[in-house]
Amino acid sequence: MYYKKKNMSWGFTLACNLALGILGSSIAAPIKTVPWNGHIGAVSFTFDDALETQALNMKPLLDAMPDVRVTFFLTGYQNRLIDNAAGFAALAYAGNEIGNHTITHWHLTLESDNELEEDVVKNADFTEAVLAKHGADVQIVSFATPFCENNAHVKTFINKRHFINRDCGLEGRNKWDTEPDWMGIDAKIWAPPGTTINEMLSALDTAAYIGNFDNTNPFVPQITGGSWLVILMHDVSENLAIPYVIMPDQIKTLFERAVRNKLWVAPLGTIGAYHRAHFIFDKAPMKKTEDGYSVKWDIPHKYMPKSVPLRVRIDTTQFGENVTIEQDGKIISPENDGTYIIEFMSKSLILRNTGEISLPIASRIKQNRKAYKFTLFDLKGKPLGIVNDFAVPEKFSKGIYIIRAEAEGMPTVTKKVAR
Ligand SMILES: [Zn+2]
Repeated sequence: MYYKKKNMSWGFTLACNLALGILGSSIAAPIKTVPWNGHIGAVSFTFDDALETQALNMKPLLDAMPDVRVTFFLTGYQNRLIDNAAGFAALAYAGNEIGNHTITHWHLTLESDNELEEDVVKNADFTEAVLAKHGADVQIVSFATPFCENNAHVKTFINKRHFINRDCGLEGRNKWDTEPDWMGIDAKIWAPPGTTINEMLSALDTAAYIGNFDNTNPFVPQITGGSWLVILMHDVSENLAIPYVIMPDQIKTLFERAVRNKLWVAPLGTIGAYHRAHFIFDKAPMKKTEDGYSVKWDIPHKYMPKSVPLRVRIDTTQFGENVTIEQDGKIISPENDGTYIIEFMSKSLILRNTGEISLPIASRIKQNRKAYKFTLFDLKGKPLGIVNDFAVPEKFSKGIYIIRAEAEGMPTVTKKVAR
C-alpha cells in the first residue's frame, strides 16, 4: 500500500504545526544557505582602471588557474575602455566579471546629477555595448567608485543601475551573518610600499580562519570564523616604477594561497549576489501545501546577475530524509555532500514529502487512477519513463526511486519508492 507510513518525522512536523495552530500561516523554511558556497571563506580580487597591463598580463595567469575568477572595473578615462576592449572582452569570455568604474574617473562627490547619470548609470550600458562588439555578452551589476569617494547622494545613482558597489580603505572583510552596506563594500588596497605580500597573505589566512586570533585588536571586528575578503589592485607589471603596481608573480602567489586555503575565489558580483541572496532566502516563509511546503521570496535588486546559484541544506531533523526540492517543474538532484544547488532568481521552490502520502490524497489518486500520469525518476532526478502507479516495474534494478503522479487540476504528488 503506497500510503503506508515509512517515516515519522514529516508527520511529526505536521502534527506540531497543527498543535501550534500555524497550519495555513507561514513560518521560516527549515532550508538554509550554506555559507560561502561550502567554503570556509571567500575572496574577490578586483582590478581597477581598465589598464593595458591587466589585459596583457592577467590573461595567461587566469587561463592557468580555472578555479580563480576576478573582477575588472573598467573606465573610459584616457580612452582606455575602447583601447583595451578586446583584451577585456577575452577576459570576460573566460568567466571574469566586468564592472563599471565611470567614463571620466572624476570625483563623483563633486559631480552634478546630470554628470552622475552619465558617469554612473549610462556608462554601465555603454560598457556592455563596447564589449558586445568584441563578442563578450557582459551583464554589468557591479560598480566601483573612483578614489573610493562616495556619499549618500552618489549612492542613489549607483543603486539605480548596480546591486553592489565597492569602496575601499579598511580591512575589506565581510562576515556571513552581518549584512554590509551594498552601496559601500570595503576593500583592502594593494598600495606598496605600505602594503607587503606577507600582509596580503596573512589577510588571505584570516579570511580562511587559519591562525590564532586570540590577541586580535579589539578595535577591529573580532575574528570568529571565515570571512569574505575584497582586495583592490591596479597595474600588473614588472615595471616597479608604476604607482600601485603588483608583479604577475606576486599575484600568482596570492592566487595560489587563496586556493590552498580552500577559499571561494570568485568575482565581487558573484560572491556579493550569493551573500545578498542569503539574507532574503534564509528568512523566506514557507506555506503548507497538500503534500509539502512552498517557499517564495523576492529579488532584492533589479540588477542582480541573471543567475544566482545558491547552495542550500535542508534541516533533516525537521523534515527527515524523504523530501525532494522542485523548482520550475524540475526535481533538483542533491550534490555529493547532501546539499542542493537551487536558482535564487527563480523566486520559489517546492518541498515535497516523498515518505508518505496522506489517506485523502491516496484515495483521491485511487479513484482517479486513469487521470494520473506516473513518471519514474532516479534519485538524481533523471526521468526513466512512464509507469502505471507508485510501483517500480521489475525490469529496473533494485534500489530507491522517485515516482511523481500528476493530473490536470490536481496537486502533484511525489513519492520515494523502493524496488
Ligand atoms: Zn580608479
